Amino acid sequence: MKPTGLYIHIPFCIKKCSYCSFYSVKSDDRTRFDFGKALMSELEQRVRNKCIVTIYAGGGTPTLLPPEFWGEFLALVTDIADTSDIEECTIETNPGAVTESELFTLRQVGFNRMSMGVQSFSDTALLTLGRIHTSSAALKTFKSARKAGFDNISIDLMYGIPGQSLDGWSEDLKRIEDLAPEHISCYELSVEKGTPISESISSGELSKPDEQTCRKMYLAADNILTEYGYLHYEVSNYARGKSFISRHNSAYWDRTPYIGLGPSAHSFNGKNTRSWNVASIEDYLSQMKNGNSPETGREEIDIEQAALETVMLGLRCNTGIDLWKIETETGVSINRDYLNTMIENNRVIVSGTRLIPTAEGMLYADGDSINLIE
Ligand code: SF4
Repeated sequence: MKPTGLYIHIPFCIKKCSYCSFYSVKSDDRTRFDFGKALMSELEQRVRNKCIVTIYAGGGTPTLLPPEFWGEFLALVTDIADTSDIEECTIETNPGAVTESELFTLRQVGFNRMSMGVQSFSDTALLTLGRIHTSSAALKTFKSARKAGFDNISIDLMYGIPGQSLDGWSEDLKRIEDLAPEHISCYELSVEKGTPISESISSGELSKPDEQTCRKMYLAADNILTEYGYLHYEVSNYARGKSFISRHNSAYWDRTPYIGLGPSAHSFNGKNTRSWNVASIEDYLSQMKNGNSPETGREEIDIEQAALETVMLGLRCNTGIDLWKIETETGVSINRDYLNTMIENNRVIVSGTRLIPTAEGMLYADGDSINLIE
């Protein structure tokens, strides 16, 4: 049995953030109850006899399902799958969406890692993002999670927010020294069409920091967080030592198989097939009620596409890529002229047969990968 990751997508949120383009909706108790049942059926349908090594409950806001549900869910995973080598069991939450006693129960039922959407320590920025919480609420939830026994906490921070300055972002980063989470994800705000924040930017009501400033913000994160001892192991991710590198996310980057449960969740067989579930809750509930598969689409990945993905994902990580392995195993060849340009521009360094991106080089991984493969 191949080690496999399990992702569970919970599409519920208390309120839509102004920048969010994910599939998430408000819900009532009845919908959440029906959804929980459907999720259990999909779990039975797809996870039996698999070897599950990581579990990640994300969304959305997974803590909107009661901790008791999660207890039953994780117990069923253990019953039907081999979980003897499980390495990591994460639940995402948002400050203000979980109580201290719920955190205790979540820890007791088996989650050993928490990922928290803090986004910013500035209340002005949180207001711009339409978040439901304040900075002090985030700190309170963080402390409650520690009290509940979570000794592996990841926090999400965001830069490139309208109204945020480079100094303001640096102040956010400096809060990390005292808080000392085990893991940090720093994402640039992505402005998606149709979101309220995109409309405010288009109308001139808000203005996003320009590309150069965002680049400096990215590098400021690298400087400050590595100075605090964090390992910048992927373009957006930092760990307080190797043992806190996210196992579940690393599996995505390593092309390990994963099963995604819930509406719009994606799955990958570790070789050449990617598939995804129906997006709407109504369709998902109806498929599961009728005992059908919720899968709605799939794509086959050819060897060239797989090679491109390996290069792209590898150039986003501090482990880089093995050029020799890529050329011999996939048959694609590397454009040596372009490789030399990357080296001259200090975007990569060569170590034996490996190509290792610099912190700045990780930012260019997508474009460089396309040009690097002939
Ligand atoms: S909490 Fe996350 S998923 Fe929910 S609306 Fe906000 S950004 Fe979207």
